[in-house]
Amino acid sequence: MQPFLALFDIDGTLLRPSGLGRRSLAHTFSELYARPEAFDGISFTGRTDRDIFREGLAVVGRSDDEIHQVEERYLVHLEREVQQRGDSAEPAMVQLIRRLSGMAHVTLGLVTGNVRRAATLKLAPSGLNEHFHCGAFGCESHDRAELVRRAIGRAEQLRGQSFPRSRICHVGDAASDILAARDNGIIAVGIGAADATAELVRLGAHHLYAPDVPVERFVVEVLG
Ligand SMILES: [Mg+2]
Repeated sequence: MQPFLALFDIDGTLLRPSGLGRRSLAHTFSELYARPEAFDGISFTGRTDRDIFREGLAVVGRSDDEIHQVEERYLVHLEREVQQRGDSAEPAMVQLIRRLSGMAHVTLGLVTGNVRRAATLKLAPSGLNEHFHCGAFGCESHDRAELVRRAIGRAEQLRGQSFPRSRICHVGDAASDILAARDNGIIAVGIGAADATAELVRLGAHHLYAPDVPVERFVVEVLG
């Protein structure tokens, strides 16, 4: 079997939308600035944590210099939220990751806007962390295409081989995921409810699945 690299987004892809990040940020901005509503009406989809933190700081009229303080408190609140809410992983996605993890020729990686620690915290309840060999995180770049490039580079370094672009996929729920995959010349896999997928098709997704992804169909269609 020719090696295959499968890269996965986290929020809205591996994990169902649960409002974890939004609640943690509301607590953070309540604690630091007495502004729990700072993110009301702001979309988080497909964005990096630090990009979102910066927008919140602008809303409350504070400088970007305070971003590290925001991140530190956000991670404390996120850890507590995760402990309270438990597992928000999409069961079919957990099955898919376990299935791919058991295939010797498949390398699994994360590409996410989450800072690394947030990614680890969010995936912990589902036990998914152990399946991912490499990744690129929102603390490294705002640009998702650059994150995909970095994750590919790390996987190639780890395995000591290069992956043909036709043997790499990026799986995500946002327009930025599809565009980042297309930008890198790899297979773009969109995840979304039926009414959300038209946009992903328009952007050039090669495959589309509902969040309760059919595991065996995914394996046949995407890995070939
Ligand atoms: Mg996402």
